[in-house]
Amino acid sequence: MARALLIDLDDTLYDEASYVRSGMAAVAREIAGLAGAPVPEVEALMLEELARNGRGKVFDVALERLGVAPQPDLIKGLVEAYRDHRPAIRLWPGVREALADLAQDHRLAIVTDGLGLMQRRKVEALGVEALVETVVYCWELGWPKPDPRPYLKAMEQLGGTPAETLVVGDNPGHDMAAAQAAGLRSLRVRTGRFAAETFPNLTADAEADSFVAAAPLIRRLETVS
Ligand SMILES: [Mg+2]
Repeated sequence: MARALLIDLDDTLYDEASYVRSGMAAVAREIAGLAGAPVPEVEALMLEELARNGRGKVFDVALERLGVAPQPDLIKGLVEAYRDHRPAIRLWPGVREALADLAQDHRLAIVTDGLGLMQRRKVEALGVEALVETVVYCWELGWPKPDPRPYLKAMEQLGGTPAETLVVGDNPGHDMAAAQAAGLRSLRVRTGRFAAETFPNLTADAEADSFVAAAPLIRRLETVS
């Protein structure tokens, strides 16, 4: 019986791309103030660079295009603004209800990777802390995924045994790999960046198109175990 669920956050319960856009918008407001340019123009510049070359140089490129020298201290401040901003993000439709439903007969934990400050801001904005018993911040513990230790810690906190515990996440390289290393079963949700990717050596015990679609599968896994 899976009685303890260890659930990933980014791209499992909400769209991580929406967090990136929210962070870019926050930084665009800062840059617009510095450069005396309209916020929408700055944001458009940044999103264009993001789409073209990824996150790496977005702030530098935007500043340069607006005639502001991208000094290291300035960039550092913008990175801080990005990480510390109050994200405008939402759980995918139905996720809140699915968590509340599962919580009736499961103990739930969120196990999340990424900088503690950013992950805490996301948890706050999504209002998920009230829906689970505990949130484990892997990086704050110095155990980034696929380190199995944050999962084992969460399992312990929930009072589960390996046979009763199921890992749910979108990234096989992190979530399924950690589950394998920890000797736990796992369910992969096909949402977010890795939805279409194949991971030949990281098979999950079950797969679902979304977290909402996973809930009935979680119950089915329980009846066959
Ligand atoms: Mg994830």
